Amino acid sequence: MLSIKNLHVKLEEEDKQILKGVDLQINAGEVHAIMGPNGSGKSTLSYVLSGKDGYEVTQGEAALEGADLLEMEPEERAAAGLFLAFQYPVEIPGVGNMTFLRTAVNAQRKARGEAEMSASDFLKAVRARAKELKIDAEMLKRPVNVGFSGGEKKRNEIMQMAMLEPKMCILDETDSGLDVDAMKLVAEGVNALRSEGRGFLVITHYQRLLDHIKPDVVHIMADGRIVKTGGPELALEVENNGYGDILAEVA
Ligand code: ADP
Ligand code: MG
Ligand code: MG
Repeated sequence: MLSIKNLHVKLEEEDKQILKGVDLQINAGEVHAIMGPNGSGKSTLSYVLSGKDGYEVTQGEAALEGADLLEMEPEERAAAGLFLAFQYPVEIPGVGNMTFLRTAVNAQRKARGEAEMSASDFLKAVRARAKELKIDAEMLKRPVNVGFSGGEKKRNEIMQMAMLEPKMCILDETDSGLDVDAMKLVAEGVNALRSEGRGFLVITHYQRLLDHIKPDVVHIMADGRIVKTGGPELALEVENNGYGDILAEVA
């Protein structure tokens, strides 16, 4: 599903190398987690995959189902099936959540050469997803994320994800700043969307999210590289001992 080979990325404005050779293969149906100390390049990886400005790929490849992501505009990446849930979801005053969702769904359909979804089909889909994800109908009527609690914002990201039906979902510290109950809701949302045809990359600083989203593979990132890969036990090792032992072992 997602194939990253020897990815090197520097900042456009400064001569600062941030990713120094990232290799990552995620198959359809798999959930991978990336953990790592602050500043190791986790967010940079998700930004570069989604096509955010300000980064320059100096070496390496990134492909979604064999198609070169790095050649695509951000909206083309989304149309190809990539979804990034942000660490800090943006508030959009004046734009209703339903309008936002419908515009996003139809823009994606258009980019894929598919017909627009009818208003009634859209409503049915929204209601079904909202029910699955335990999202209050009231929340859907409000402007996007305006006045939402941290937990509501994160759940709204999961709602957007559910409506866009991506093939590859990247969640960048979707758990940060959440209390345990809100984090469980995010995890439930992700678990509800897990499927054979869909891959997930869950970036998290803390192990606790991974108690609820059981990853197939856990990677540790440090200083712009993936330095260790293992199973869920690797996340527990980090929880118990921090990153010190792993980083010392790798060094
Ligand atoms: P993580 O998500 O693992 O905490 P980041 O990808 O946010 O790490 O950051 C990796 C490194 O790159 C950090 O040293 C950070 O300060 C730096 N960095 C990332 N983006 C920028 C930017 N736009 N300008 C300056 N430094 C940046
Ligand atoms: Mg950080
Ligand atoms: Mg980050």
